[in-house]
Amino acid sequence: MSEPQQSVVLIEDEKMIRRYVAMALSANGFKVWESETAQQGLMETASRRPDLIILDLGLPDRDGVDVIRELRLWCEIPILVLSVCTEEMQKVAALDAGADDYLTKPFGVPELHARIRAVLRRRARRDGHEDNEGGIFEFGDVQVDMVHRRVSRGGTPVHLTPIEYQILTLLVANVGLVLTHRFILQKVWGPDYVERPHYLRVFMAGLRRKIEENSSNPKHLMTETGIGYRLVR
Ligand code: CA
Repeated sequence: MSEPQQSVVLIEDEKMIRRYVAMALSANGFKVWESETAQQGLMETASRRPDLIILDLGLPDRDGVDVIRELRLWCEIPILVLSVCTEEMQKVAALDAGADDYLTKPFGVPELHARIRAVLRRRARRDGHEDNEGGIFEFGDVQVDMVHRRVSRGGTPVHLTPIEYQILTLLVANVGLVLTHRFILQKVWGPDYVERPHYLRVFMAGLRRKIEENSSNPKHLMTETGIGYRLVR
């Protein structure tokens, strides 16, 4: 049984990058519609209804974050943002506006595909097309049993506080994708705590000590400086 072909609307004004991404996606079986401007991209998205939108934040006609806000008014198609490394604030703004993740230029094809897989997998799970491996999630030598709320490392039970467990399961549910400080604080502590990233730092340090082999050189609970955290399998 062959999978239906997945499609992408790619909105990027730099021709070299657009060609590079479009070729990588086509080679991997995606149907790609290319747009050079925000306006064209919005029109393509409305008419094509793609499975994914890849959006450059620096477009000639519109601010990329603004484009995300507009898209989120009428569609929930996953959005992967392309940006340059100096745009930390803009990345956070893009994620807060509803983007699913970002890639920093320059990026390699394997990174592009990994990020797309993570975004599409989360969407499939959310739509109920893919289950969560029987409620057991594994990374490295860590096992998270979401049904029984048990965590073990190398077969030894790990005791997590309720907050540590909540942070971990939030990261598990979004494996491979960045979560902003604000998003995690809001989900775990509530809306009154979104401006208190130090809370999160303290609990993340505790979680790393229990989960990581070497907490000062984490392999799974990764920091995205100035932005948030990402669970890498
Ligand atoms: Ca650009």
